[in-house]
Amino acid sequence: MGQDLRSFLDLVKRKKPDDLVIVSREVNPAYEITALAAKLDREGKRRPVLVFENVRGTSFPVLTNLHASRSRLAASINTPPDEMLRKYLRAMEKPIPPTVVSTGPVKEVVKKGAEIDLYALPQIVHHQGDAGPYITAAISFARDLEDEIWNCAYNRLMIQGRDRTSIHLTTGKHLWEFHRKAEAKSQPLPVAFAIGVHPAIALGSLAIGSIDEDERAIMGGLFGEPLELVKCETSDVLVPAHAEMVIEAEILPHQRVAEGPFGEFTGYSLGERQREVVQVNAITHRRGAFFQDIAVAHLDHLLLSTIPMEANLYRAVRAMVPSLRAVRVPSPFTCYVSIEQRIPGQAKNAIMAVLGADLYMKRVVVVDHDVDVFDDRQMTWAIGTRCQPDRDITIVTNARGSDLDPSSRDDGYTAKWGVDATAKPSLAAYTPRHRVPPEVWTRIKLEDFGLSK
Ligand code: MN
Repeated sequence: MGQDLRSFLDLVKRKKPDDLVIVSREVNPAYEITALAAKLDREGKRRPVLVFENVRGTSFPVLTNLHASRSRLAASINTPPDEMLRKYLRAMEKPIPPTVVSTGPVKEVVKKGAEIDLYALPQIVHHQGDAGPYITAAISFARDLEDEIWNCAYNRLMIQGRDRTSIHLTTGKHLWEFHRKAEAKSQPLPVAFAIGVHPAIALGSLAIGSIDEDERAIMGGLFGEPLELVKCETSDVLVPAHAEMVIEAEILPHQRVAEGPFGEFTGYSLGERQREVVQVNAITHRRGAFFQDIAVAHLDHLLLSTIPMEANLYRAVRAMVPSLRAVRVPSPFTCYVSIEQRIPGQAKNAIMAVLGADLYMKRVVVVDHDVDVFDDRQMTWAIGTRCQPDRDITIVTNARGSDLDPSSRDDGYTAKWGVDATAKPSLAAYTPRHRVPPEVWTRIKLEDFGLSK
């Protein structure tokens, strides 16, 4: 299986040519790329991969909207859309460790020292009020300084100089932990950012789990073969051999710089904060590299992160409630769960499992298995008709959540809540739902009454 973005684009071209649109007209990277992707979705009802060949101020073509379709993401891991969660779970349960190769296409062009110039990259500004150009499709690869534990994550990078960016490290998560440990010893943390990768790498990098779970092996599980890595030019960090571009860098200790405002996946733009500083030591890339962008807070962004989140939550709830039916993350910080409740208390256990398994989860709603978690009307119906708030709502105070939640008191110091919207004492013993008698439903035919078209 080709592990590069280009072989995936070839697959799209072959199987669904309309899903790849190349724009030749010059585009301004300030707002216009985001505007075109968003408008094409809203007005054109289309979410193809977009390649802008001619971007003002840079020689790099910009590729965006890659992840904006569920069926495209599913195709990238060789599975139908409704099997994605299962496929992802299998990759988590049977990860395939990566392999190190001597070189790869990402080394075709190597820039160091004075040749490094982040201003030569597309200077993409996404939304009004953003503090400046951001790199939104950078996947970090880093190793803990003390242990052989690797981590991958998406981290937004704001361009702050020819060889400098700031970085948003999600407070309390793994790369933040690596950096805090390095900083305690006053050491920089070597890191590298891959930009422009096969969607299986993107999906794997978003796996949620324990700090010692290796996202690179989950990428291997999704590929069905080991991910090929090469060593960086300026550090021992390993990066995907087939990436379009890699930025080799260090996160500096004891340095902070003003970052933001930046419109995020929540749909809000949080204000300026002091964030960690990234010193760039090399840029390597393929000849004619695509510079990948993610349309922040649009489906390109939201679909990609939902599947890994749902897979992890499915795994966590199933460990507590074996009769779990479905899990859905419908919007930021929210999780819907349906279970076939066999004994009272299982709904509460499902709530605790979700809140214990994902930092971002703040609101959990648990329903019985006759409710479809993918139907918002059924969800509000179940909350309205099976829930007594004084009995069925659990609130956890003073916990850690997302530092990007604008409602939290202090950048992520938050309360969380669970809603048990299952029927009590059991669905079987609950007031019956209205229905036409099943024998009538089966017998009666629309055409016999002149009602079929
Ligand atoms: Mn991790």
